[in-house]
Amino acid sequence: MERIYITTPLYYVNAEPHLGHTYTTVVADTLKRYYRSIGYDAFLLTGTDEHGDKIAQAAAANGLDPKAYADRVSDLFRSTWDACGIAYDHFIRTTDGYHTKFVQSVLQKIYDAGEIYFGEYGGFYCYGCERFYTEKELVDGKCPDHQKAPDYISEKNYFFRMGKYQQRLIDALQARPELIRPERYRSEVLAFLREPLEDLCISRPTSRLQWGIALPFDSNYVTYVWFDALLNYVSALEHRGGESIAVLWPKANHLIAKDILKPHGIYWPTMLMAAGLPLYDHLHVHGYWNMDSGKMSKSLGNVIRPLEMKARFGMDAFRYFLLREMAFGQDAKFSEEALVTRINADLANNLGNFVSRALAMQQKYFDGVVQPLSANWASEDVKLRDIFAAAEFDLKSQMEELQFHRALEAVWSALDHANRYIVQTAPFTLIKDAEKKARVGELLHHLLEAVRTLSRVLAPFMPETAVQLRDLLALGDDGLNAPWGQGFAAGHKINPPKVLFPRIESNGKK
Ligand SMILES: [Zn+2]
Repeated sequence: MERIYITTPLYYVNAEPHLGHTYTTVVADTLKRYYRSIGYDAFLLTGTDEHGDKIAQAAAANGLDPKAYADRVSDLFRSTWDACGIAYDHFIRTTDGYHTKFVQSVLQKIYDAGEIYFGEYGGFYCYGCERFYTEKELVDGKCPDHQKAPDYISEKNYFFRMGKYQQRLIDALQARPELIRPERYRSEVLAFLREPLEDLCISRPTSRLQWGIALPFDSNYVTYVWFDALLNYVSALEHRGGESIAVLWPKANHLIAKDILKPHGIYWPTMLMAAGLPLYDHLHVHGYWNMDSGKMSKSLGNVIRPLEMKARFGMDAFRYFLLREMAFGQDAKFSEEALVTRINADLANNLGNFVSRALAMQQKYFDGVVQPLSANWASEDVKLRDIFAAAEFDLKSQMEELQFHRALEAVWSALDHANRYIVQTAPFTLIKDAEKKARVGELLHHLLEAVRTLSRVLAPFMPETAVQLRDLLALGDDGLNAPWGQGFAAGHKINPPKVLFPRIESNGKK
């Protein structure tokens, strides 16, 4: 059986779940459902990253100890993904005991191999970024991300010989052009590697920070948060046991936003090389959601919370918007206006209307009982079937490239054709002629086949809608994969239509 291992980043517990987290997680969930639907053993990992200065500081600001604070925010992520129907297989926390043990075992192994050394380092340290900056990287003496002058710190620390792996990483990126996708992010990593790659400081003295995993070879230090967090992708598999690492790790598909390209594109592969593990299969990098009103922030009050979106618009409509609006890899703009426009145009007027028309006619003309097809199909019937088959074929190739918006476009172009088919064949007119009743039965049968196909192909994107369609057709799980024309047994009776996607008025009310 073919396998795929899909991961979201471990979300840092310094913020509650927002649009950026939700997008990555919805993409991961869609991929998992898609690969399951084509017969893969697909495993989806998500979780939370909980160590480091920022968490220690946030906990202190909330009057909590770091673990109690991390528990609270981690639970919020987990319960949010549960409420959103995300089908993750494992939720890892970097404070889990098995993860700590794994990180320490890797550190010890790399240390014993001479890949970690003790040295002195002085530099400009930004607490917000949890990293040192070179003078060149500062803008007017300030951290470009935090607009704050960093502190100068000089201390003894442990370093991972990352620079040693520079050429091996360049070679790997050249030998496997699809290692980092889309191409622009691979180019970005290669451009970065044109400069000498420095060694990575992987420790923090406990005099400054206690909230981290202790170095196994020196208890005066804890592990740098990235060196700890990245290892989750493997520690979760080790925890799962059996052959998980052997069979799933080489099939790892990481999903990240572009702000964490450097740790995933440079630190992580060199760490894997040092640990003697194969590289991941792919690193898939997506862009940012920009807000109409500028950058999303708590102070601007424009934070998009997934559960609010779910309550107001429905999770499937929200998922559809996210997957349809953003071209994976590029930035996209989020606005409620655009969301409402898509829900009304694509879901209410197009998909919802098509399904309710087909089901209403079936109900009205045949009391819901599916009529037989003749042996020879009319050319427009064959064409309808072929257009859906072509759309499903197109969808497959788009999914391999993570072009979700194109995959959905393919489905909607078939849907447009199906709407035209209703207009052109006009079953509502033919039914007035008693001699044409058998033909109307055939037309509706083909329309129901289109609905059945939609239920199958939309399942990874809009899982609740797919189930609703299947229920309207009164079919079980197993009724979805039969070829066109063989999906309904003789005398099969479907259910009356219902409104799948109510139109949303511009004031936001349904
Ligand atoms: Zn900073």
